[in-house]
Amino acid sequence: MSTVAQNHINIEAELQAAIGANTLHLHYQPKADLQSGQIVGMEALLRWQHPTHGLIPPTVFIPVAENSELIVRLGDWVIQQVCADIVNWLAVGLKPPSVAINISPVQLQDPGLTSRLSHMLQAQNLISDQISLEITENVLMYRSENIDKAFSDFKQKGYLLALDDFGTGYSALSYLKHFPFDYVKIDKSFIKEIPHNPDDVSITKAVIAMAHSLGIKVIAEGVETEAQCKFLSDNMCDQIQGHFFSRPINAEQMQALLKDRPVLDKHLLRMGKPDRTLLLVDDEPNILNALKRLLRKDDYRILIANSGQEGLEILERNQVDVIISDQRMPLMTGVEFLRNAKKSYPETVRIILSGYTELQYITDAINEGAIYKFLTKPWDDELIRANIREAFHYKEMEDENRRLTLQVQTTNQELISANKQLAEMLKQKQKQISRDELSLSIVREVLQYVPMPIIAVDDEDMVVFMNSSAEKVIPASRIELGCQIEHLIPEAGSGMREFSEGLWFPVEVYGQPFDAQWKNMGEQSKPSGKIVMLIDHRC
Ligand code: C2E
Ligand code: MG
Ligand code: MG
Repeated sequence: MSTVAQNHINIEAELQAAIGANTLHLHYQPKADLQSGQIVGMEALLRWQHPTHGLIPPTVFIPVAENSELIVRLGDWVIQQVCADIVNWLAVGLKPPSVAINISPVQLQDPGLTSRLSHMLQAQNLISDQISLEITENVLMYRSENIDKAFSDFKQKGYLLALDDFGTGYSALSYLKHFPFDYVKIDKSFIKEIPHNPDDVSITKAVIAMAHSLGIKVIAEGVETEAQCKFLSDNMCDQIQGHFFSRPINAEQMQALLKDRPVLDKHLLRMGKPDRTLLLVDDEPNILNALKRLLRKDDYRILIANSGQEGLEILERNQVDVIISDQRMPLMTGVEFLRNAKKSYPETVRIILSGYTELQYITDAINEGAIYKFLTKPWDDELIRANIREAFHYKEMEDENRRLTLQVQTTNQELISANKQLAEMLKQKQKQISRDELSLSIVREVLQYVPMPIIAVDDEDMVVFMNSSAEKVIPASRIELGCQIEHLIPEAGSGMREFSEGLWFPVEVYGQPFDAQWKNMGEQSKPSGKIVMLIDHRC
């Protein structure tokens, strides 16, 4: 930070020059869906290649830009570049999913942002579905009328909104209720240590549950390992973003990725069926080889580790169903290893295979659930194969139960989300109706001031409106709203049948000569019927 402070002026001035100097570019990072495994979005991330200082990360220059007007110019450059890249991808026949653009809370203060955004999209023939907006949680600290207006405009134009870096700042879940976010992005600092940090596990689960109950989807940032991905998928997270699926890449590389359409492995999906994976842990290589040879015919994916520590490392990177561990190993015994494994991966089925029987120790471990079975060395080949088959069967039944629960939760979540969208649509519709009503009353008022008599009739020629100029030329005794125009001004009624639309024809209105003309209504608005205008012949 102090280096940044020292360079404050430089960064600002040089960044200003960089906007036109081709030293800024965008990287894109895909987001993968945990139900389909496919790429369903991507995030645009700004990069600054400084001619002498090399690559400067956005975490250094964005805060400097936010201290001046520069962030607005920088933000516009990003939007324009994203639009240009989308157009290039479309031109080669690709269908890019929506691209998320990071919007600084300072940009949101700018009342011209929404209309500029719309113009930039329109200029490239793009629609609001093709981009989405990510706004950091800090926005909650900057709340103002401008920001509330920006949120409401974004929703009205149909942009999807994500609350970025959730959990790092204000992190009040209750705030989510008051803002129209479609997605919450759990900050990478919480993802980093799952599944072994129990606090992060609890926080992540709580955020997912709370967001889903509000009809908001959840994206996890900074997913780097298979174990993190599996944990998130098992716990109903909707999408992942991070080095595990892909690092941020340039537009050309993204084009290749969109063409290849990589998907997440099936066993990592929310309801995906995993390969049967077995982890063997023993400090004696001979035992591991003998077991591997024996189990080769049983079609398991077999992973091996020479110590408890190595076993834990494998578990971190792989999704394992059944673990078979030796008891006597240096540094960490089998029971200690399986206790640790249970803590972070409770759904695994854990078996001890040992020649030694330290009865009390093993019984305790079985009683507390750390161990599912205890098998003895030397083993009977057929018996151990049958035991392992049974362990997989047990695991698959548990998985099936979990899958069913997830299915029920997913359906519930989809219902809540559909309800939320419906409520949002109704809100927008209601706003539209109020706006229409307002403009209708303004039009009515304007018509009252027009010096020319104007009368509107419906499809059955029944009078539905007349302005004050019309009321002045028609005797009050004749005026009955709801009567036929024929009854009010007989010559106008017959003229409307005889003369074509838009032609002037003479009429006598209670002794005074007028010229009349009629027009069909509904060319630019919904209502049908006709409008009749009169001009005083003497004027
Ligand atoms: P962010 O919006 O939360 O973006 C995600 C950051 O996480 C990116 O850092 C990305 O490179 C990084 N990341 C992605 N996957 C992993 C992973 O698996 N592990 C780890 N450790 N990190 C991962 P980056 O590109 O340095 O951007 C930092 C922040 O700068 C962004 O955080 C965003 O707040 C801001 N930023 C970037 N581009 C823009 C922009 O165009 N406009 C604005 N206003 N802010 C931007
Ligand atoms: Mg972001
Ligand atoms: Mg973030």
